[in-house]
Amino acid sequence: MKSKKHFFTVNILAIALTIFSCSKDDDTPPPTTQSTAIPSVYSKIYGATSITSDGTFITIKTSDQPNHKSAYWANTNSLYEAFTPSATNPSFTGGAFIRAPNNITAQTITLKIPLNPKVATTHSATPMGVMGVALDGVPFFNQYAAGGVSLGGEVNGFDQAWGHPQASGMYHYHVEPYYLTTVKSGATKWGLLGFLLDGFPVYGPKEENNTDPSNLDVYHGHTHVTIDFPSGIYHYHISNTAPYINGNGFYGTPGTVTQ
Ligand SMILES: [Zn+2]
Ligand SMILES: [Zn+2]
Repeated sequence: MKSKKHFFTVNILAIALTIFSCSKDDDTPPPTTQSTAIPSVYSKIYGATSITSDGTFITIKTSDQPNHKSAYWANTNSLYEAFTPSATNPSFTGGAFIRAPNNITAQTITLKIPLNPKVATTHSATPMGVMGVALDGVPFFNQYAAGGVSLGGEVNGFDQAWGHPQASGMYHYHVEPYYLTTVKSGATKWGLLGFLLDGFPVYGPKEENNTDPSNLDVYHGHTHVTIDFPSGIYHYHISNTAPYINGNGFYGTPGTVTQ
């Protein structure tokens, strides 16, 4: 009697569980966008306002508000710092600092970069405007000033972090982001600095053993293991001369940027 009652209870439970799990499967709509685990390396982009992935692309949003001092913050901002000429002035042309008229202004920038970047069969030129993002959320621009001309005297408008804002106040780096390679706590000349739109990472002017990178291709990159990519990856190295951040064009197929 006792065992029969027990058998009955177990059966009722099993039937109830089956009905419950079936109805749950049938009634739950599939999510409209699959959220996928994001490789931890992307969390190094500390300046991003959000980082998500659909399994094919990593979507990085930034308001482009660097956490470092600049002569381009409004002088009411706690990060405002008057420009002081010094040996770190990136005035490659030897000129004095000339402040551009605009302050740093919050932006709405969304970069969609390939989660698994691949070499492109046809290499496209980097665009004017946003071509990538640095760890502090600041966009990388290519080696040209507006109109596709050489940066020329524009470098004399770079602040202490070697960046400057364009006409709508979008702060950006054309060259080595000096705050990230030199000033920030723990900064190195060899660490990860950000990503370009094709999904490939950007590193500083040195390798992890502090030597100069060797065998760089025309895009300023090569492939080997790094701390962030223990299986090895193609990556760009920033240089001190034009074209600075990468070479002429993307190694991979670029994603998209909206702003
Ligand atoms: Zn510029
Ligand atoms: Zn390297």
